[in-house]
Order: sequence, then structure tokens, then C-alpha cells
Amino acid sequence: MKIGRGRILANGLACRCPGCGGRTLFEKGRLLKVNASCPVCGLRIERGDGEFLGPLVINYGLTAFGIVVPVIVLYAAGRLGGAATLLIAFAASLAAPLLLYRLSWGWWLALYYLFLPGNLPANLEGRAEDDM
Ligand SMILES: [Zn+2]
Repeated sequence: MKIGRGRILANGLACRCPGCGGRTLFEKGRLLKVNASCPVCGLRIERGDGEFLGPLVINYGLTAFGIVVPVIVLYAAGRLGGAATLLIAFAASLAAPLLLYRLSWGWWLALYYLFLPGNLPANLEGRAEDDM
């Protein structure tokens, strides 16, 4: 069965495997350890060196432009004091990447397979059948 872009997006936003929809992106019992591949459908999650860069960019972008820049804008607008700005920006810079880590992996995989849905194992099988 082919997996469409809507399903890939829904699975990714829910931090599930884009191939089978299972909660299999991370090892059981380990909060931050990514599985090398999905134990259900076999989708390779970590495909090699540098695979972490996609989630890292998403995580950094959300932290910097979703939290730190707005706090600085509030300071510049006179809505926050200097100490509060520093405290919030510092605390958010430490906490947000940890809190967003798992989500950023799901969103990265969704983004990747949204553009390359033919690379999912289920869609590769369909493609081989189509060629016959
Ligand atoms: Zn899977």
C-alpha cells in the first residue's frame, strides 16, 4: 500500500514513523536515543553521518526565531527588562532544544519524505510493481 503525502505529514507532525505510523523513532525507555531503523517497517531513520543536521536546524530555528528573537523584540519594545530578557533567553536556550528534540526528528522525517515520498520502503515496493 502506497503512503501519500498527507499520511507522511500527519505521521511526522505526531512524531511517528513516516512509513508505518508507529511510535518507533526512538528506542523504548530511552528518551533521546534515535533508532537506527524502524523495528516495524524497516525504514532507516539514521541514514548516515550528518543525519542529525536536519532535526538540529529545525530545533535551532524554533528556539532562536520562535523564542529568543521574540524575547529580544519585547526588550527592544520596552515590554521586558534587561534581567528578565537575559533570564528568559538563557533558560529557553537550554530548555527548548531538549523539549523539542523528539518533535524535531519527527518533523524532519516528515519534511524529508514529503519531498521524496518514493523513498519510503512501502512506496518503493509499489514503484517496483508499477514498473512490471
Ligand atoms: Zn515504521
